[in-house]
Amino acid sequence: MNLHEYQAKRLFAEHGVPIPNGEVARSEEEARQIAADLGGHVVVKAQVHTGGRGKAGGVKLAHSPEEAAAAAHQILGMDIKGLTVHQVLVDELAPGGIDQEIYLAVLIDRAKRRPMIMASAAGGMDIEQVAEETPEKIIKVHVDPFLGVKGYQSNYIAGKMGLPRELWRDFHKITSSLYSCFKANDASLTEINPLVITGEGKLMAVDGKMSIDDNSLFRLPAIVEMRDTSEEPEAEQKAREAGINFIKLDGNIGCMVNGAGLAMTTMDVTKLFGGAPANFLDIGGGAKAEQVATALRLILSDENVEAVLINIFGGITRGDEVAKGIIAALEQVKTDIPFVVRLAGTNAAEGMAILADAEMETAVTLSDAAQKAVALTKEAK
Ligand code: GDP
Ligand code: MN
Repeated sequence: MNLHEYQAKRLFAEHGVPIPNGEVARSEEEARQIAADLGGHVVVKAQVHTGGRGKAGGVKLAHSPEEAAAAAHQILGMDIKGLTVHQVLVDELAPGGIDQEIYLAVLIDRAKRRPMIMASAAGGMDIEQVAEETPEKIIKVHVDPFLGVKGYQSNYIAGKMGLPRELWRDFHKITSSLYSCFKANDASLTEINPLVITGEGKLMAVDGKMSIDDNSLFRLPAIVEMRDTSEEPEAEQKAREAGINFIKLDGNIGCMVNGAGLAMTTMDVTKLFGGAPANFLDIGGGAKAEQVATALRLILSDENVEAVLINIFGGITRGDEVAKGIIAALEQVKTDIPFVVRLAGTNAAEGMAILADAEMETAVTLSDAAQKAVALTKEAK
């Protein structure tokens, strides 16, 4: 789950990262009022779940409440990379302006299975671009979760970046605060781009980005409250409500599978036979009619889908129940799109017999099922 800049920065601040004063506005009038309260010199920033807002015209400086209102007028309703701006953050300008922009983030290094601090003196811009063109400008330090960020690690980074000595102590405070925010909220990323040196010679986070591991949301009620559903694809929202793991992809074969591992395998095998999955879908345990129907609706809501591949392994859920569930679901969700079903595991044979009686296309092995699904899309064309 992704947070907005204003939400991320507030969490950073709770852990001790210095941020500018600011408030969120949903209208021109609110933006004018906030700017007036902050003394008039502000930056007005689109709050959408994407970077590159600056380049897209979603970050504007203002030097009076009127200018702030005008900036909010321009930014609210703007489309940035397909997302509509519904709110803007009105922040006090960095005191004395900005002398330098630094990149600082904490993220998971999957290969090392550890959190990692990533920093660069080439901040402000797209970090992916820095990584590609000048990888030597990126500094990486791994954090031992039992020790946290040690002073010598922050100093190493600060030294490599050429940060003035008098800022090293504050820099360590910021790296350790950002790490404690990362850890306390089960984040997969906490990022400040840019962390600036202000004209007054102080460090300050003027931007913030944060992603939370969805698997931890059950124990983070305050974070769940921050979810902005207007930013998520409708199908993924519906899936979450139904307890189904669904991710839309670009292909034309809808996939309905139980278990994440089997769903990945199904996608791989589909690809192997020249097909393109339209989605990842893990229906979870117990493929009952209601759940199958919801999953089918999700899959069929995608106009690109030309065939549906159902691959269910019956463990506790028996194959005959799954088959009945599929047939009941198809009565609820009428469609002309062809299906292939493969059942394996407990009572698979009984299940397959039920499906065959209902004149559904079935397959015994996954490769057979995938090839049939691919063939059905070719027929569809
Ligand atoms: P992003 O483009 O979505 O990453 O949005 P940022 O928040 O990083 O803003 C883009 C750029 O706007 C920054 O790199 C800064 O140069 C500038 N900017 C952002 N906040 C301030 C501010 O408070 N004062 C000044 N002078 N510039 C700012
Ligand atoms: Mn930024």
